[in-house]
Amino acid sequence: MKIITEASVYLLGYQAVAGHELERFLADHDVTWETDTEVGAEVLTETAGRLCYMSYAKPRPGGNTAYLTHIKEVGHGSVLEHAVWNFVFTGVSRTLTHELVRHRAGMGYSQLSQRYVDESVAEYVCPDVIRNDPELYRVWYTAMREAHAAYVTLAEKLAEKLVGAAYLKYARDCARMHLPPCGPDDWYRGQHQEVKTGFRKEARQAARSVLPNATETKIFVTANGRALRHFLEQRGSRFAEPEIRKLAGQVLAVLQAESPALFSDYVRERLPDGTDEITTQYRKV
Ligand SMILES: Cc1cc2nc3c(=O)[nH]c(=O)nc-3n(C[C@H](O)[C@H](O)[C@H](O)COP(=O)(O)OP(=O)(O)OC[C@H]3O[C@@H](n4cnc5c(N)ncnc54)[C@H](O)[C@@H]3O)c2cc1C
Repeated sequence: MKIITEASVYLLGYQAVAGHELERFLADHDVTWETDTEVGAEVLTETAGRLCYMSYAKPRPGGNTAYLTHIKEVGHGSVLEHAVWNFVFTGVSRTLTHELVRHRAGMGYSQLSQRYVDESVAEYVCPDVIRNDPELYRVWYTAMREAHAAYVTLAEKLAEKLVGAAYLKYARDCARMHLPPCGPDDWYRGQHQEVKTGFRKEARQAARSVLPNATETKIFVTANGRALRHFLEQRGSRFAEPEIRKLAGQVLAVLQAESPALFSDYVRERLPDGTDEITTQYRKV
């Protein structure tokens, strides 16, 4: 049983600009325009924003950063929806992902299935406030170990029961047709992989009911810039749960490196529990 205290954030995808098509669009409209960023998300959001007024010809000074800061100032948030990133988060609890998937607008998710994937090698995410107290940690660890053992037993016994019931049905069918049945092991070996997977899935989906909220999970998240800003503000708040607040801090670090023009307005303030609160003067654009 592995205990996790820190999430991992992987940035798997970001945007690339089809430069030749941008040039073709500008040429078709008799304008020349160049921006001063090479970050795909920043080029695309500026292009989208400028399209609204066809303001490519005489851009104000300050380049892409000034332009996108103005977009945030005036709250023209839909422009930020054209920036998209793909992440994988691992080492997060089911509690965290339950909160994360409440963010609906502009976010897409693919999460590890507890019905298909065996959790008998499960890992558990321990809240810092428990991890840092030996007595509380002992109570927590015992609870995880017991829940884990119950899951393994239930998954095994349920699978055995389901296979046993299916074999009995087969044996009864054979008897009705006056055919000699083969033994249970041979019968099981002869089953299609899909049928065997079906038994395990049925067993795991029931057994997982005893798994704790702390069970580690993995989630693929695709999100646009506007949705990510909303996520950072809500979940980076001092009122958010510490695990998701820490994740918001990790995501912010990735995004500030990735796209300073869209995310450098966020500032961090250290809270007494050692996590950072994230705030901005341009809330919920
Ligand atoms: C500190 C904290 C405590 C919380 N406690 C609880 C709790 O006790 N119980 C609970 O159930 N939830 C709780 N939540 C979750 C919260 O209610 C939201 O569901 C979650 O934060 C997602 O926010 P959202 O709906 O604004 O975001 P998103 O779904 O990301 O939407 C972004 C924005 O799009 C707009 N939008 C999205 N969907 C719609 C829609 N269907 N109709 C109209 N406008 C829409 C809204 O303006 C919304 O703010 C909590 C959240 C936080 C941060």
